[in-house]
Amino acid sequence: MSLQIRDVSVRFDSQLVLDHESLDVSTGEIVAVIGPSGSGKTTLLRVIAGLLRPDGGRVLIDREDVTDWPTHRRRVGLVFQDNQLFPHLDVADNVAFGLRMNRHSRPEIDARVAEVLDAVGLADRSGQSVGTLSGGEAKRVALARTLAPMPRVVLLDEPFAGLDDELRTRLAHDVRETLKRSGVTAILVSHDPTDVKAVADRVHHLADGVSIQRMPVESIRPLRREVLRAGMENQSVDFEGDDEATTFHLAALDHAGRIVATSTWLARERAGSPGRVAYQLRGMATAVDFQSRGLGARLVVAGLDVLAERGVEIVWANARDAALAFYRRLGFTVEGEGFIEPVTRLPHHVVVRAVNP
Ligand code: ADP
Ligand code: MG
Repeated sequence: MSLQIRDVSVRFDSQLVLDHESLDVSTGEIVAVIGPSGSGKTTLLRVIAGLLRPDGGRVLIDREDVTDWPTHRRRVGLVFQDNQLFPHLDVADNVAFGLRMNRHSRPEIDARVAEVLDAVGLADRSGQSVGTLSGGEAKRVALARTLAPMPRVVLLDEPFAGLDDELRTRLAHDVRETLKRSGVTAILVSHDPTDVKAVADRVHHLADGVSIQRMPVESIRPLRREVLRAGMENQSVDFEGDDEATTFHLAALDHAGRIVATSTWLARERAGSPGRVAYQLRGMATAVDFQSRGLGARLVVAGLDVLAERGVEIVWANARDAALAFYRRLGFTVEGEGFIEPVTRLPHHVVVRAVNP
């Protein structure tokens, strides 16, 4: 069953959350929709499921326009982050729930429940109380319950949020296998790019109205002051080298044009790599209300593009220890002994990466 989203727009009060979104998913395909928190991922799933009427645009399942259909006629299954299992029902009764609503016969229901529990590797758990399941098992039950009524499309909303890394990896693999074996068309939404790679055939980025642009240093100083020098207002927010011709400043601007994240890139040799063309990344700062939305990573990726065009070989930074995981995810390696940075008095390490690894 294919799924088409055509020019879907959703507005809440004055906020345009989805702006002419279009997406085609072929039969049996798994597409990941990613975007930072607040970019409208859940809203898009609610539109597909028929829980929210879009202000514009159409939803087609198997080429049939279902935009005006009620939820129950669409045969769309949802898996939520928190599973939403019924705590007073055992595993089998949770899985049977949707089938009972559709008034199947008892033997039909029992057979289908056994089939989907087997598919998710929980055949021996049917009588167990859902309260005693591990996080991974509960997720499998939620998936089995969604698949039981043979939906045409399955929507998974941040299904791995809150699970530890090792479990996510294993579960992501199993979820993919189960979806592929059932042949169902699926959309997975996530703000975490690593989750989606393990599950999806393809990634669709939701536009969130934030754009990355080169900006003059005067425009980014207020954000530096607010974020980097919070509580240290007497400290200068000018960096040595800010005005050099080779220096550039990248900023993320929200849809209203407000600067919500910044970074500065300076031509600076790296002590450990003499003779190689190097840049230093400095002054990464994200406005408090835009943190955890992936803007830092987008600024780094945009900066690496500029460096690659300039033929730069190495980029390095003095990173706060609290940010080392962020840099590692972006391909940087941590080098040498740590040190206490004199202005902030926080522990730091040097991080380095090749511009074109
Ligand atoms: P995501 O799932 O990507 O984090 P959501 O789709 O939940 O994002 O929300 C997108 C934006 O729409 C957010 O700014 C959110 O506050 C707003 N929003 C979501 N639902 C409603 C609603 N029912 N009424 C008003 N605003 C909403
Ligand atoms: Mg959401």
